[in-house]
Amino acid sequence: MNSIDLPRENPNLCAMSDKPIFTRSFTQQEPIPQAAIEAANRVLRTGRLHRYNTAPDEIAETALLEEEFAAMTGAKYALAVASGGYAIGAALRAIGVGQGDLVLSNGFTLAPVPGAIASVGAVPVFVEVTENLTIDLEDLNTKAQASGARVLLLSHMRGHICDMGRLMAICDAAGITVIEDCAHTMGAAWNGLASGRHGKIACYSTQTYKHINSGEGGFLTSDDADVMARAILLSGSYMLYTRHRAAPPPEAFAQARFETPNVSGRMDNLRAAILRPQLADLPRQVARWRELYERMEAGLANLPHLRLTERDPREDYVGSSFQFLLPDWSPDKITAFVQAAARRGVELKWFGAAEPVAFTSRYDSWRYAPAQTLPKTDHILAGLIDLRLPLTFAPEDVDRLAEILRDEVIAHAP
Ligand SMILES: *Cc1c(COP(=O)(O)O)cnc(C)c1O
Repeated sequence: MNSIDLPRENPNLCAMSDKPIFTRSFTQQEPIPQAAIEAANRVLRTGRLHRYNTAPDEIAETALLEEEFAAMTGAKYALAVASGGYAIGAALRAIGVGQGDLVLSNGFTLAPVPGAIASVGAVPVFVEVTENLTIDLEDLNTKAQASGARVLLLSHMRGHICDMGRLMAICDAAGITVIEDCAHTMGAAWNGLASGRHGKIACYSTQTYKHINSGEGGFLTSDDADVMARAILLSGSYMLYTRHRAAPPPEAFAQARFETPNVSGRMDNLRAAILRPQLADLPRQVARWRELYERMEAGLANLPHLRLTERDPREDYVGSSFQFLLPDWSPDKITAFVQAAARRGVELKWFGAAEPVAFTSRYDSWRYAPAQTLPKTDHILAGLIDLRLPLTFAPEDVDRLAEILRDEVIAHAP
């Protein structure tokens, strides 16, 4: 069938039999804003792309970006790096995590999280997830006691933030240092405090599919001068750390400069130039994501056999992706549902598939880590559906998406 011949009211929606089809791409981001393109051109014309390559009296784009990021999050210090995964690895090293150390982390997260733990020779201890996709605080408490681990790498996976007050109380009581993986919570907050401001260190990503886009990139923030001095040295600052502005004073580096290996992972001025205008625009983008998220939530409300995640009123989330549970569905029914949605142009990710596909790997796919059993997480992931909500979708697109999903849930529900 040639869909071009069909009458189409909306260019993004074409009819096949009587069923509307969604034709927007789930992986298409918005273009880089004009101000960022111009800033990038200015950097390119100078040739000074390396963050320490500055003219006399010039402040590098990267150093300015770090100041702006610290101001936005409220952190004392910020460091821009080559990726979110690099930031996490540097955070672990900066607090002395090494060979054989145990690190608690979410059983439901993305591969760079256990990957960063493995990169320093440490061993992940996975904690269960709740139906609202946040870390299970009871299981965290139990595993903190049982394992004796001294570090929690907390992933705010898909932007779901747990009760941070309770989490910090558990970790403080057990003497556990918290590193927050804020790859999906840049621009979010818990109880009025920016995500990433509860633990000792926070890590962010500026990779294309996150909230600001430099292709690859990341940040590490902290209020701890020793930690930040080591992170800066680790990132490959040579002895040029005084060129950093959102950084502790030179005294903080006195000892660390001889003891910290250089594990190069710097950000460059080109990426920083692209990110600065996007960072300034982040609040507006967050509001747009929230609108898409809320449209989807309303569109899928009150459907039998579909469970929406509940958001705590203290959670000020971004909503750049959407998740729901098909709790009592068999794998065959879910497979049929996902395939039917795909035929109508709706790209869903299912975390319950037998083999990891694209971004949907599970804790049992990370076989470099010791085998662990998380029955509650298994049960939840078996019915977990995930989709992106890129800002190239208009609110009306999301309404159509929700309609298609409603149809197919009703058609395939057990
Ligand atoms: C993207 C992501 C990271 C790290 O991102 P990079 O691709 O290394 O920048 C870390 N944690 C989660 C949950 C992510 O989605």
